[in-house]
Amino acid sequence: MGSGPGDGTTQSKPAAKVSVLFDADRIAARVAALAKEIAGGVGGDFLVISILKGSFVFSADLIRAMHGEGMHPQIDFITLSSYGEATESSGHVEITRDVTDRIRGRTIMLVDDILESGRTLAFAKTMLLDRAAGEVKVCVFLDKPNKRKVAIEADFVGFECPDEFVVGYGLDYAHYYRELPYVGILESG
Ligand code: 5GP
Ligand code: MG
Repeated sequence: MGSGPGDGTTQSKPAAKVSVLFDADRIAARVAALAKEIAGGVGGDFLVISILKGSFVFSADLIRAMHGEGMHPQIDFITLSSYGEATESSGHVEITRDVTDRIRGRTIMLVDDILESGRTLAFAKTMLLDRAAGEVKVCVFLDKPNKRKVAIEADFVGFECPDEFVVGYGLDYAHYYRELPYVGILESG
């Protein structure tokens, strides 16, 4: 990607209000509980694949909570793009940075920020199974179950999310707001 519109370097922060939906304490408690659920449902030897950019904060917290539950995952990253700077999925998913670890025969835990239409995770799961992954589990921080366009569900869900555009805790709008320690609804104006 070159410089210019779309790479986050040329725009100023949008003027909008963010109202808190899940605060930092609530997120921390839920992430700890999620790690317990995962410990009960998946063996200890697996590869976490964090889908960038949106899931980097959640993944970082989740793997440390996994450590607390005695799990010892390996971690890799994949960068997928589907949104650009719009607030609606374009329906087209591309790999902009691929994984580097071995996939064949392994148990994979795909971690994403939001499951909405399902296109991103369906694409990623199919791609890993095509590469002969042994088993692919899916963990998402937020789920918008009413927005599904393709049939895929997550094995582990942090929170059900209202059908609003949310930012923070890794989630962006036009490359801003990822640093917020909470999740909030982006109000227009
Ligand atoms: P899907 O492919 O399931 O439609 O879209 C999932 C991706 O869309 C997420 O990984 C996320 O990047 C983006 N997305 C969906 N809803 C929201 C939202 O409310 N806020 C933000 N910032 N991104 C979203
Ligand atoms: Mg995403």
